[in-house]
Amino acid sequence: MGETDGSSLRVHAFLPISHTNGPGARAAIWVQGCSLGCPGCFNPETHSPAGGQSVDIEALLARIMALRDGIEGVSITGGEPLGQRGALAELLSRLKARTDLSVVLFTGFSWAEVTALDGSAGVLANVDLVVAGRYVVARRLARDLRGSDNQTLHFLSDRYGADDLRAVPMAEVLVGLGGEIVVSGVGPPRLDGLGESWALSGWGESNEVRRRA
Ligand code: SF4
Repeated sequence: MGETDGSSLRVHAFLPISHTNGPGARAAIWVQGCSLGCPGCFNPETHSPAGGQSVDIEALLARIMALRDGIEGVSITGGEPLGQRGALAELLSRLKARTDLSVVLFTGFSWAEVTALDGSAGVLANVDLVVAGRYVVARRLARDLRGSDNQTLHFLSDRYGADDLRAVPMAEVLVGLGGEIVVSGVGPPRLDGLGESWALSGWGESNEVRRRA
């Protein structure tokens, strides 16, 4: 399942500021690797466990800490974050010990599956909100952080409630200084006029987002 030794996380992409992956301004981490195979998945490039880049937990934390004055939290999505439970538990434990940033976790596992996974409690101990369940294209919803209406919300702290989710935009389109475009959110628009689909890609100090060829 792509599990590492816990000192590093295999990451597909990192977005320093997003407004569509949870309440307020948030850093967003796309974890690499997912074997759940939802038809219509927006992020097939995150599926291979060999893709992305292995990133040291402390390096990831340092990057988040540098952003902390401009964000209210961190969102973990993918790919399947719970495929790397040891590393994720370590990252979130250190994050919560050092900051008051909130944590939103998106997982393709149902809530029943999440709670049955070995090691999931260590992750959930430092998560404020979980969005759980496969993306089911026939049940598309695209609001309140849910891509489809079978997905369930689990408020694990008093940090957020349902009202906080209604203000979250369903999509955002960001353009980098070099013309890179990233589309993010539970209801991303099709950019057919651009001739290709566009998605998050890459991990780098100056190139968090790139056009997908
Ligand atoms: S769980 Fe998420 S990343 Fe995995 S296939 Fe389903 S929608 Fe795609």
